[in-house]
Amino acid sequence: MNDKKQEYLEKVGLAGVKEAFWNLSVPSLVGKTLLLEQGTLTDTGALACDTGEFTGRSPKDKFVVFDENTKKTIWWGDVNNKISIEAFQKIYERMNAYLIGRDIYIKDAYACASDKYKLNIRVITEYPWQNLFAYNLFLRPTATELTNFTPEWTVLCASGFKADPKIDFTRAHNFTIINFTLKTILIGGSAYTGEIKKGIFTVLNYLLPIKHKALSMHCSANIGKNGDTAVFFGLSGTGKTTLSADSNRKLIGDDEHGWDEDSVFNFEGGCYAKCVNLSQEKEPQIFSAIKFGTLLENIEFKPGTETVDYDNVSKTENTRAAYPIDFIENSVEPSIGKTPENIFFLTADAFGVLPPISKLNVGQAMYHFISGYTAKVAGTEAGITEPQTTFSACFGKPFLPLHPTQYAELLGEKLKDSSINVWLINTGWTGGSYGTGERIKLSYTRAMITAALNGELSKVQYKKHEIFGLLMPLECPNVPSELLNPSKTWVDKNKYEETATKLAKAFQNNFEQYKNAANEEIIAGGPQINAVEKETK
Ligand code: ATP
Ligand code: MN
Repeated sequence: MNDKKQEYLEKVGLAGVKEAFWNLSVPSLVGKTLLLEQGTLTDTGALACDTGEFTGRSPKDKFVVFDENTKKTIWWGDVNNKISIEAFQKIYERMNAYLIGRDIYIKDAYACASDKYKLNIRVITEYPWQNLFAYNLFLRPTATELTNFTPEWTVLCASGFKADPKIDFTRAHNFTIINFTLKTILIGGSAYTGEIKKGIFTVLNYLLPIKHKALSMHCSANIGKNGDTAVFFGLSGTGKTTLSADSNRKLIGDDEHGWDEDSVFNFEGGCYAKCVNLSQEKEPQIFSAIKFGTLLENIEFKPGTETVDYDNVSKTENTRAAYPIDFIENSVEPSIGKTPENIFFLTADAFGVLPPISKLNVGQAMYHFISGYTAKVAGTEAGITEPQTTFSACFGKPFLPLHPTQYAELLGEKLKDSSINVWLINTGWTGGSYGTGERIKLSYTRAMITAALNGELSKVQYKKHEIFGLLMPLECPNVPSELLNPSKTWVDKNKYEETATKLAKAFQNNFEQYKNAANEEIIAGGPQINAVEKETK
């Protein structure tokens, strides 16, 4: 090891590690993982690993260091839990002590495809496959850039280190702690790699609006043949990754983007796709991206083979594939597009109330952005069949270090006096709520998005939804017309009205907290329950 590297390890308190592996190649990281028996190769060459106890993020265990720098800017509360400078320091030292005598893997990378916002990141992990994740998900510096690399932010991920809530002031043994002053993220107790990417996303959700007055977004993005950009906002599982992978459009990115005066740019250099029920037929791009270099998480094999069984989700529903963006054949390089012409809000409405596609005016767009609605299908174990509403501001509340109105204001300025089309897409249920109806076919959702992007939906007539006020097209190429108006897909019309009213009330209750910051136009963009009476007459 050269002096510079040794000096760095000493400076950050990691001089006691057994060996530090710097920027290992993909084959080396895969090889190390196999040697350590932390993973296996699938028949397509992908590396399959289990993340252990945690197979998803743990939002309740996310902390931000409370100090002079952050005390007035951060949106403190259950999204951004406070932790003291002293607690951070102590846990940092305890993590370093834990790593004495252990190997560590160091990956230098950066975030933001636009040079203006480029953020150098050093990701230090306990396991080699987590380092592969960092390589796949973040942007990859060139060999020359690597020789002169100066990290601005550091992510230290010691998954085997367990915090003790009694002495570490954490909630549990796992944690993600962001220190904006020291520009460090500490991750311990959990080996779920999503914590690494969403940690940096949180940092960018702070830097972009505050430092650059640019909007950061939890969305995917792609570009059409005419160079038009589309962005797809949505909470987990609503279809960002799936729908942005489109054979007719070039992929900019699948999850995190920035939007400044004249461009949309990816924060990342890779995708993190859900794999549940993945098939070549329905999601060909993603299916083909799972090859050597890709990291698969928590999947199962078909018995006695190295063939992945994507339908087997016995470890978790949240099986994932992490791959560099160029594994998607039609991705753009660099991952930058023009100002969007179309914005899609994706929601997986398990109540089956919202139309599969509808057009929003500016007030409605702002209302739905602030609301960030989707629904969760309740766990079958508990025997609950009722779906649960989720309202997550800006379609990404867990990753917002600032108050949601700060992002909403930035979006509002962009929509004002613009010709940007905003659409709400329900990728969830049709023909009834979860249990009665079924999830709308992916091919129909794709057809609706294609029609919106091709301008075909500007030629058709619309009907206003009685409660939500959204404009529903009466027809759409390659989609049965009766699907377009949700009430028509329900056998029991009264039940539809009742369920829609209930959902509208849930929207209104949730919006109470933002009402003071919203103008009349935005408030009018919400559902109008009084309209129901008229409809039922
Ligand atoms: P995350 O933020 O967690 O990455 P995401 O928004 O990227 O979530 P996807 O990975 O695209 O979500 O997951 C959508 C899932 O829903 C996929 O497994 C997809 O196959 C499935 N799906 C089923 N029907 C539809 C539909 N009509 N539209 C979109 N996705 C659908
Ligand atoms: Mn995704």
